[in-house]
Amino acid sequence: MRPFEYVSASDKAQAVSLLAAAWGKTEILAGGTDLLALMKDDIVSPRRLVNIKEIKDLSGVSANERGIRIGALSTLDDLANDATIQKNYPAFAEALVEVASPQIRNQATIGGNLCQRPRCWYFRNGFGLLPKDESGKELVTVGENRYHAILGNEGPAKFVSPSTIAPILIAYGATIRLQGPKGKRELPLEKFFMAPKTDEEREHNLRPNEILTEVLLPATDNVHAAHYEIRQKEAFDWPLAVAAVALTMNKTKIQSARIVMGSVAPVPWRSLVAESVLTGRLIDEDIAQEAAEAAVKGARPLRGNAYKVQLARVAVKRAILKTASGGSL
Ligand SMILES: Cc1cc2nc3c(=O)[nH]c(=O)nc-3n(C[C@H](O)[C@H](O)[C@H](O)COP(=O)(O)OP(=O)(O)OC[C@H]3O[C@@H](n4cnc5c(N)ncnc54)[C@H](O)[C@@H]3O)c2cc1C
Repeated sequence: MRPFEYVSASDKAQAVSLLAAAWGKTEILAGGTDLLALMKDDIVSPRRLVNIKEIKDLSGVSANERGIRIGALSTLDDLANDATIQKNYPAFAEALVEVASPQIRNQATIGGNLCQRPRCWYFRNGFGLLPKDESGKELVTVGENRYHAILGNEGPAKFVSPSTIAPILIAYGATIRLQGPKGKRELPLEKFFMAPKTDEEREHNLRPNEILTEVLLPATDNVHAAHYEIRQKEAFDWPLAVAAVALTMNKTKIQSARIVMGSVAPVPWRSLVAESVLTGRLIDEDIAQEAAEAAVKGARPLRGNAYKVQLARVAVKRAILKTASGGSL
């Protein structure tokens, strides 16, 4: 590990100014479960680390009639055990429990989870997010790509977005709040994730020295949601395909739908085509199958990951059916 300066901020404004100090390379430290591993492997080497864990108003969950506000420093374990989340956002609670292991969930924060870096093995081995060889060939396309993207992979980004809670948060309609040197801003969570096109871009819509401060979830009247993930093994590893579905119901008919897939694209992948298949329909096996087919229609698997198309299709179908069975399948 290279030498670096370590500073702790006691409030948001101080954190922003510590980040903005003329050091060039700074990183935010929350739970550290991803960042410290990246530093030890020399993938990121900040000159200044800004610890934000002392900032009191970045923690906790509060609720009102419009929904809930989650502080960015809330740990995944605290959120999984939060009574309001369990009651009003059960599919989110379920997605939280499936992340990693109890030890990691105790330490990892929701802000860090949404800002974690991709697990692409080229990136984690120092070849960058958009790895190329000397002749300019994309390493992922010609190399080992069994865990890479099957959707949204037309550009140079072929890694998959690593957060497995982002899809269900987007399905529930989450927005986030950010604070930086130019003030505060709010944006839908789905607009926070980007597929970088150049080596200068990152995979998050974070402006220089900005901190993610809060996640907001709207109230869920008449919403039936489900999270479904497919793993290679029952261990603390990332899944191969994730599907999150939130249906706003008008009695037994689907008034509107949100379908978001994870682990299949460089960003959480929302399928508007699949959503339109469900609108105005009753949930049954045939309609779930039709929507699942629509969700993967545009897939362009790489040489080694065609198997993920079927996994994503099955995940979407099962998530839709799970909403109808009250969350069990
Ligand atoms: C074995 C293992 C299995 C895992 N399995 C899963 C899984 O199945 N699903 C899943 O989703 N995750 C999984 N993870 C990842 C884990 O969830 C993340 O490491 C964790 O959520 C990151 O949170 P943190 O608070 O520790 O972030 P940190 O490590 O502190 O930070 C991560 C990144 O986010 C930035 N950051 C942190 N907080 C903020 C903020 N508020 N504003 C702006 N930037 C910020 C940091 O600068 C850094 O770049 C796994 C991890 C391990 C080690």
